[in-house]
Amino acid sequence: MIPIHAYAGQRVGVLGLGRSGLATARALAAGEATPVCWDDSETAREAAAAEEFEIAEIHRPREAEGLDALIVSPGIPHLYPEPHRAVVLAQENAIPVDNDVGLFFRAMADYEPDDDGPEPKIIAVTGSNGKSTTTALIHHVLDAAGRHTQMGGNIGRGVLDLDLPGPREIIVLELSSYQTELARTLAPDVAVFLNLSPDHLDRHGGIGGYFAAKRRLFEAGAPEQAIIGVDEPEGRYLASILDAPVTISAKIRLRGETRTVFMNKNHLTEWRGKQIAAIDLRDSPALVGAHNHQNACAAYAACRAVGVAPRQIETGLLSFPGLAHRMERLGTVRGIPVINDSKATNADAAEKALLSYDRIRWIAGGLPKEGGIAPLQPLFDRIAKAYLIGESAAAFAATLGETPHVISGDLETATRSALDEAEDGDVILLSPASASFDQFPSFEARGDAFRALVAPHLDPTERDQEASP
Ligand code: ADP
Repeated sequence: MIPIHAYAGQRVGVLGLGRSGLATARALAAGEATPVCWDDSETAREAAAAEEFEIAEIHRPREAEGLDALIVSPGIPHLYPEPHRAVVLAQENAIPVDNDVGLFFRAMADYEPDDDGPEPKIIAVTGSNGKSTTTALIHHVLDAAGRHTQMGGNIGRGVLDLDLPGPREIIVLELSSYQTELARTLAPDVAVFLNLSPDHLDRHGGIGGYFAAKRRLFEAGAPEQAIIGVDEPEGRYLASILDAPVTISAKIRLRGETRTVFMNKNHLTEWRGKQIAAIDLRDSPALVGAHNHQNACAAYAACRAVGVAPRQIETGLLSFPGLAHRMERLGTVRGIPVINDSKATNADAAEKALLSYDRIRWIAGGLPKEGGIAPLQPLFDRIAKAYLIGESAAAFAATLGETPHVISGDLETATRSALDEAEDGDVILLSPASASFDQFPSFEARGDAFRALVAPHLDPTERDQEASP
């Protein structure tokens, strides 16, 4: 845990008592502050009360006035569509509003490891898509290169749940737009902007607000090194107003005098006046598809920024196992690859998976999202057959039209049919383009169910064969 000493002896409101809220309360208590907790859900309040934290109605004037600061969880609106009552009261009383990420950066600014070695470094990753993959990839490459590293934020542990870093240690953070929008202190050494596509617009008052939230990491944060994906206009604009950013692209050959990282055919290429390194990403089983190439370029640039050599980065990129539920290769059945992309809860994400394979047995459907799969029509010629499940099955069937498909209903039936019917050269892909909540508690549960259904049919791996007598 990272104790927060900045509010020692003071009363600090903690609004929202999920994982990060409880971690915040603990970190404040460890720094001799008194966390004063509230969540609109009674169950969440009970969890905090069980740890003997004070619970108070900080959304009412009497309690709000006594606070020295208010720390807000990312799930609670602080501006749009409308701010939580406790936030309004804090603002009316000129009480500083912050979040766990702001507390973290402030604590790190004051922190010096006991040892005299070089200071720890912080790499922060933001963007609309690929944040978790890129964060995990950076962490994996650093680890493979023998560097001490921890990963947290929106992935794995909350920022205040991390351990105090030792000298030379590198902390890799995934930061969402909610987190960057509110944090009063943002001071990463290296900051990565991957890409921007419309998302969470209700919470940011439109795309301008959403972009502004992400930009804060670069403007308020003034990182030593900014790494900017320039495949969209917003990234190109951001790169043009920053000093000496490293630009990255999965699409454009960015040749210049400053460092750039881009894809040239299948090779991740570092350029600085001339070619410095080239890595054939076809050798990486997990970094499949143009979107993952973008993630790899960003991770490469981030690791270079903290002094890792190209050859070491190459070793890490090629050994990355990938993240569960994101185009995760479960293995093969009769030589046919089976891919779990349960995280693809909308057409945009499923598009990335469909683009990555040529002949697809596609398991799709669930709780429909606006627009359905109509945007995927240009990719329908890649579909050998679709196996449709969940509430969106009929609507998806209508959009698929002449493309071979069947309404399977549930995941078990769909998986069985796809396994029975798949032929050489096919890929079996679960990439639902829908939320999971009609049939599963989460996309993770849906992906785990798929894994369990496929497991008994998988071909033995090379390792299994070595292990058997
Ligand atoms: P995030 O943490 O930003 O939600 P993830 O790394 O969890 O991103 O990836 C979620 C999904 O987004 C993946 O399954 C994939 O379909 C898609 N994706 C991953 N990386 C990118 C990228 N660089 N650009 C566009 N889409 C991506």
